Amino acid sequence: MTQTLQIERANHLKDKPDVSTIKFGTVFTDYMFTNKYTPEYGWSEPSILPYQNLQLSPSCQALHYGQSVFEGLKAYKNGDDVLLFRPDENFSRMNKSLSRLSMPEINEENALNALYELIKLERDWVPGGPGQSLYIRPFVFADEPFLGVRPSETYQFNIILSPVASYYGAQLSPTSIYVEDDFVRAVRGGVGFAKASGNYAGSLLAQKKANELGYEQVLWLDGVEQKYVEEVGSMNIFFIRDGELITPKLNGSILPGITRKSIIQLAEYKGYTVKEEAIHIDTLAEDLESGRITEVFGAGTAVVVSPVGKLNIHGVDYIINDNQVGPAAQELYNDLTDIQYGRIEDPFGWVVKL
Ligand SMILES: *Cc1c(COP(=O)(O)O)cnc(C)c1O
Repeated sequence: MTQTLQIERANHLKDKPDVSTIKFGTVFTDYMFTNKYTPEYGWSEPSILPYQNLQLSPSCQALHYGQSVFEGLKAYKNGDDVLLFRPDENFSRMNKSLSRLSMPEINEENALNALYELIKLERDWVPGGPGQSLYIRPFVFADEPFLGVRPSETYQFNIILSPVASYYGAQLSPTSIYVEDDFVRAVRGGVGFAKASGNYAGSLLAQKKANELGYEQVLWLDGVEQKYVEEVGSMNIFFIRDGELITPKLNGSILPGITRKSIIQLAEYKGYTVKEEAIHIDTLAEDLESGRITEVFGAGTAVVVSPVGKLNIHGVDYIINDNQVGPAAQELYNDLTDIQYGRIEDPFGWVVKL
């Protein structure tokens, strides 16, 4: 069923900022999308309206019991066109997150159409400088004013937009990573595979600890045995081992990244052997020591590919590829961003042109 999307026009449009100087996530566009869920009518009030503060009851359920999920994707400028990268994947993943958190699923087709309308309305906000993009943040949360512990009866689904500068200046640069042995991000049977807001709250303390120890990000081990590599920060992780591309197999506590999935498909297309397997942290240390592993990199929407130059495992620093960007990371980064920005033909049908 297609619903009529109401559009409420703004009286006044903001001045566009100089995107090269803004901090990530601080500037928002003129409009947002919103929809409301009630048990009687489902998701029945889709509208685009001026970006504005929300009015919530202090007993709003999301604030107390954490029914809140989100997504993240980007719009890229190519001449007069605006390109989206696999937006269908984001809404399909959002439904998996919603279902896990006992929240009502959205209609993916309606959500995509609403997103397209919002982006078309805001197309002048998609920045065109090198590496710049418009970050898209869809999110759903429980807004019923009620302190009882049970799934909320009402929800809000919003999409907000924020122009972002290039993550790297002109070039990729390697990061340093601390392997976390105490705190875990997610456990078997839990919500690790969902983009649940609370997963982030739980990860902040380890991130702070890594920063205090002089590392930029955390590498998470599994929550059960604390032996198997899961993710790095809020990215999936890849290795080049004996020339093959290796990544941890999805196990329910790893977030199934769309960048991860795209890198696997792209690498296979380019002739790499790709293996998804359980990676023991001690085996990883041995393979770094022996030189079998020549590259390590993270992968996620925000950075696309993030090479790792230094990895601290159980107190020992391993320097990877002389702390330089490796050839596979550079190649996959170039190809994927070329597809996202429409600089090369997209052989996979991933890009949506608006
Ligand atoms: C969002 C996210 C990723 C990356 O997913 P993409 O779809 O590639 O952006 C990886 N890990 C975690 C924990 C995440 O929240």
